[in-house]
Amino acid sequence: MKKERGLLIVLSGPSGVGKGTVCGALRQQDTDILYSVSATTRSPREGEIDGVNYFFKTRDDFEEMIKNDKLLEWAEYVGNYYGTPVDYVEKTLSEGKDIILEIEVQGALKVRQQFPEGVFIFLMPPSLAELRSRIVNRGTESEDLINNRMTVAKDEIEMMDKYDYVVENDVVDLAVERIKAIVVAEHCRKDRL
Ligand code: 5GP
Repeated sequence: MKKERGLLIVLSGPSGVGKGTVCGALRQQDTDILYSVSATTRSPREGEIDGVNYFFKTRDDFEEMIKNDKLLEWAEYVGNYYGTPVDYVEKTLSEGKDIILEIEVQGALKVRQQFPEGVFIFLMPPSLAELRSRIVNRGTESEDLINNRMTVAKDEIEMMDKYDYVVENDVVDLAVERIKAIVVAEHCRKDRL
């Protein structure tokens, strides 16, 4: 009993909910799930490494990637481009390995159209107040950017119904356990065997 293609797992949810932290913890614990590194035109934050956290691109380079169909999906988010390089995703899935994409909601919905069989997980903050305080505590955004991200976050939360699973990120380790349980369950689905 051997599946041919890996699972495409999309972890999405509003900015600041902790997608990066949850994905980072998952990456450390479960080496069976590979991680898709996105391209972006946003400047690196302190400690971020090119090729590990993102592929940092100029707008011209990013637009070239769009033109040459190098991206599975892309979105403009609070003034910057973000996109998923398609080749690595295709290669991983065709080797029968699972891959996780950590992306915002518009991009996730585009992936849904191309991969209806993907596993779509919405990471939910315990509350909007908690979400705001997580973005503020990150200390990387100006007041204006925080307000923009909160406006987008409210719209994003309304899209929750379009996902297969909703996972609350109250405690990171619990959120990770819930995601791992979803992946195990998806592998056991009889329509995937
Ligand atoms: P940040 O600037 O905080 O790293 O990311 C901003 C938002 O862009 C987050 O919601 C993050 O998940 C999302 N994002 C990161 N990579 C991608 C991507 O490849 N495609 C899309 N659509 N969103 C992404």
